[in-house]
Amino acid sequence: NTVLVLFRHDLRLSDNLALCAAANAGRPVAAAFILDEESEGARPLGGARRWWLHHSLTALSKDLKTLGVKLILRRGPMAKTVSALAEETGAATVYWNRRYDPPGIAADTQMKSALQEAGIEAESFAGHLLHEPWRIKTGSGGPYRVFTPFWRALVEHVHPRAPADRPKSLKPFEGDVTGDALEDWQLLPTTPDWAGGLRKTWTPGEAGARARLIAFLDGGGDGYKTRRDRMGDDGTSGLSAHLAHGEITPFQIWQALDGTEELAGEDMLTFRKEVGWREFCWHLLFHNPDLATQNFNSDFDAFPWHRDDRALADWQRGQTGYPVVDAAMRQLWQTGWMHNRARMIVASFLVKHLGLHWRTGEEWFWDTLVDADPASNPANWQWVAGSGADAAPFFRIFNPVLQGEKFDPQGRYVRAFVPEIENLSDKHLHQPWKAPVEALRKAGVSLGETYPRPMVDHKAARENALSAYKSIRNAD
Ligand code: FAD
Repeated sequence: NTVLVLFRHDLRLSDNLALCAAANAGRPVAAAFILDEESEGARPLGGARRWWLHHSLTALSKDLKTLGVKLILRRGPMAKTVSALAEETGAATVYWNRRYDPPGIAADTQMKSALQEAGIEAESFAGHLLHEPWRIKTGSGGPYRVFTPFWRALVEHVHPRAPADRPKSLKPFEGDVTGDALEDWQLLPTTPDWAGGLRKTWTPGEAGARARLIAFLDGGGDGYKTRRDRMGDDGTSGLSAHLAHGEITPFQIWQALDGTEELAGEDMLTFRKEVGWREFCWHLLFHNPDLATQNFNSDFDAFPWHRDDRALADWQRGQTGYPVVDAAMRQLWQTGWMHNRARMIVASFLVKHLGLHWRTGEEWFWDTLVDADPASNPANWQWVAGSGADAAPFFRIFNPVLQGEKFDPQGRYVRAFVPEIENLSDKHLHQPWKAPVEALRKAGVSLGETYPRPMVDHKAARENALSAYKSIRNAD
């Protein structure tokens, strides 16, 4: 009469409804993590998320051990793997927290029927969102396509529940069931080991998530409304990867914000809204399963994208000659994360200055971000490209020099990641090609040798982008 609890995108013990239900059942509890890269449509995790997953599972395993429970690791298609495990553990019940990505939903639906056919009780619980995506509807009964009314509806209709406590004790399943060894999954990079910067930056796991939240509420989030745009400031929460792996829930964030009076102001309202954007992205994905591969606005199907592998590689490696773009791409490569303002700048640069398809950028982010998320990544790429829901208009083309000057005025961000130009003055830092020869010489910069010249001219690139855009508008 074992209860089998599944872990997937919810690598935590607190506020885990499936785990609580299992603990409350008073029956032996077995716990398993299933790595499913085989069910139809499942998108294999990128490298940075595999690194994170390895460490997060290590942390979860340790935490479960404090309750006397061993985490069983299995790999394979969800329905088949869980059915086999249920049989081996003699489970009469299987509990899990819901997923909302379309392939995850399909795989879980299939699993549920397989379990029920075998006479096993199968129950799912609310997962990692404040809202269940089918619950919030527009006046005409459809899904939302615009953020502001979505946010209004969310605030009005969703009253976030109090987060559930971590079970104090439960009855562990004592049977002898083997699982894979985590090392056998080879989630970590070997040669080259590119994860040094990730190790320095992050502490995957529930305790790491909690520590980030506390630091943010304890002064780290002061001035969030304006500081969140300053790329060289540590002014955002850094919670995205913890949220993506379910090491913390939005309910826990809401409760923490509610509990502190000084956090009631504008800063934290803005912060809540950002978390609201995450909800909106999931809402979009739930209702538009092809968000990562199809233009939300089909006018963009006719867009004349270029293909240029060399330009793509220069962008990926942070060798575009635009310091703010290069700093951002190197931050991504070194730490597995990039500041939100910087994400908008590099995405705009790829799509509008280089004319490359947003999907090529989305794929690079998918592989390199520790927070790569099936909803937020494509939704934001489409937002920048202009093809998305409630998107920025295509003709709004960021000028990387002005963005740098405005959001990195003292050049802290650029100097941290593009050390070869760190000795340039603030005045020339964001456009070294405008610096007098003498200033370059003094700063030890030799354009085209120690640091690239701009790979495209901003003005010309802008005009090309606008005429490409006109071609699809005229085709209407
Ligand atoms: P904070 O400023 O502390 O925000 C708190 C939380 O709100 C974040 O952790 C995140 O969960 C959510 N959030 C904030 N901004 C957004 C947003 N624009 N869209 C959705 N959720 C948001 N975010 C991801 O989590 N995964 C992605 O794969 C991802 N890809 C992106 C791609 C592009 C091109 C762009 C422009 C943005 C992308 N974002 C993505 C959104 C945003 O950049 C990150 O969520 C944010 O930078 C994470 O840092 P933080 O946790 O310190 O954010």
